[in-house]
Amino acid sequence: MTDATNPLLLPSHLPHGLPDYSAIRHEHYLPAFRIAFEEHRREIDRIIKVRSVPTFENTIEALERSGELLDRVAHVFYTVSSADATPQIQEVDSELAPLMAAHRDAITLNGQLYRRVQQVHAQLDSLPLDAEQRYLVERHHREMSHAGARLDDAAKARLTELNQRLSTLSNLFERNLLADTNELAVVFDTAEELDGLAAGEISAAARAADERGLAGRFLVPLPLFTGHPYLAQLRDRGSRRRILDASRARGSRDNGNDNRPVLTEIARLRAERAALLGYDSHAAYVTADETAGNPLAVERMLRELAVPAARNAAAEKQSLQAVVDETEPEPFEVEAHDWAYYTELVRSARYAIDTSALRPWFEAERVLHDGVFYAATRLYGVTFTERRDLTAYHPGARVFEVHNEDGAAVGLYVLDLYTRDTKRGGAWMNSIVSQSRLRASAPVVVNNLNVPQPADGEPTLLTLDEVTTLFHEFGHALHGLFATVTYPHFAGTNVFRDFVEFPSQVNEMWILWPEVLDNYARHHETGEKLGAAIVERLRATQTFNQGHATSEYLAAAWLDQAWHRLSASDTVDDVAAFEADALADIGLDDPAVPTRYSSPYFAHVFSGGYSAGYYSYIWSEVLDADTVDWFRENGGLRRENGDRFRSRLLGVGGSKDPLAAYRDFRGRDAEIAPLLKRRGLET
Ligand SMILES: [Zn+2]
Repeated sequence: MTDATNPLLLPSHLPHGLPDYSAIRHEHYLPAFRIAFEEHRREIDRIIKVRSVPTFENTIEALERSGELLDRVAHVFYTVSSADATPQIQEVDSELAPLMAAHRDAITLNGQLYRRVQQVHAQLDSLPLDAEQRYLVERHHREMSHAGARLDDAAKARLTELNQRLSTLSNLFERNLLADTNELAVVFDTAEELDGLAAGEISAAARAADERGLAGRFLVPLPLFTGHPYLAQLRDRGSRRRILDASRARGSRDNGNDNRPVLTEIARLRAERAALLGYDSHAAYVTADETAGNPLAVERMLRELAVPAARNAAAEKQSLQAVVDETEPEPFEVEAHDWAYYTELVRSARYAIDTSALRPWFEAERVLHDGVFYAATRLYGVTFTERRDLTAYHPGARVFEVHNEDGAAVGLYVLDLYTRDTKRGGAWMNSIVSQSRLRASAPVVVNNLNVPQPADGEPTLLTLDEVTTLFHEFGHALHGLFATVTYPHFAGTNVFRDFVEFPSQVNEMWILWPEVLDNYARHHETGEKLGAAIVERLRATQTFNQGHATSEYLAAAWLDQAWHRLSASDTVDDVAAFEADALADIGLDDPAVPTRYSSPYFAHVFSGGYSAGYYSYIWSEVLDADTVDWFRENGGLRRENGDRFRSRLLGVGGSKDPLAAYRDFRGRDAEIAPLLKRRGLET
């Protein structure tokens, strides 16, 4: 195969630069990546070797022009490796991972490149640059120094050692957790112990036991978090207790899967790395490059929420206790493993709502066209036309062309709704092509969900959760589609981690918005609307059990902060005692409301990408709730409102300080009161 025949190396001939996936085969990827790495290295070399003084054009803008081929190939590949990872693609992926990491390090830690960036940064005040260019210089300077580019060679060598050891420890944490989760799956001897589960769930447990050579018994596997969906249904108190105890024991037993020494070493090495990079703690290091800015800002918000959350959880516990006292022949004190069960009793008594019975009103095509697209048209004037003549990376990934009200094309929106074996779990948005004026590229964005395929000839009826996910992911898609930035660095969703969920959370507000709901929630056979009484109950349940839900989330977010606020000289020997102290300190230590994740199975922060950043979800929800309030105050679903949100917030992507963009949109800083109100936590 020669370069000339590799479709990844040729410009796309399809609209908006949609890659021609029909021509791309798995064996094209690695050769294309090798050529793209080489081209990018040559471009960086040219920047370093320029003899004249570093300028914005010959350094920063040149950096933005560099790596175009690599970006293109990477976007094409990572779209497929997450949504359609055949065994051959997985093989490419594992061969690629270390090459990609080494390539990135070679650039971000390049001392010569950093010195040029630094020189441009030093003259920033006197350069005739526009606001986006100025911010671009700031960001390149910041990101390279944050990664360690300014360190001397000895420090860089130690940094590399620390990174490698941390990566090994994270893998070990993940392996231990997986092994212990499997070992601790709960075995029941009789079906009676599982009384309350659906027949299908009991037969699944019987099958799972059978597969482990435990024929005639029943096996219940554990999810990632502390609770378990079955706790809401199981009538036998002892069974509930066994499941919760097993879940909470993960990674903290004296066996080969003990994660306690692993996580204390991770915390210590992260603190050492932060010190090397000039920060007091890992949390200080991480938050310095987020909108939060520092750990104190995070602490202030978590504490402000913890007080009312704990208070509401205590009130919720009282109402559960009242049910126990009334209904149980031998009443007992409500414990953690009882919470979900009695909460379900209260929920169905108070709201008489069975969300699974709503599916006939949520037919997928109607939800998409008359709900998701409809709200976007009303707000932003954009329309969506399916392009059946275009194929993305899989026949199930449908392509829509997006137009502004004046007819100008915006880009492409790809929707890949259904689950399949080659797709990873969950739902997400990513770009196949990023918008950039410098590169004259328009956005091509993808939404992936994991909705089960309906039987042949049957319509796809969504759950309320799936409807919510579609609106959420579409909010990310709009962020990518509406970008109007010059530099690729800033396109659409390339914003801080504690900001990126904000636009997607905001888009969820239209799900129950009367004009939108009336338009899409129609019975798929009769066309009748969802009854007003049901809608009212759906709205009313939004604050139900939020004391508990908020408390368990905040407890985990605070534990994440506590571990990562340690300095390099701190040592922790007793993980359980450290946790107990941290939770008591923030007032979230009611044993009936355990943390959503306990440290030995907190994969987000010890083996995933969320260390010192688990707070992000609620941090962006503050902006979200404050924005929803703004829309309400200003008449909701109106073009003027959409235009303002689009031009001042969504469109700027990462091209300016996000909190400044927020002020520009909202007219002031975000306030926390709307979030408290939404979760029923106001005093
Ligand atoms: Zn999201």
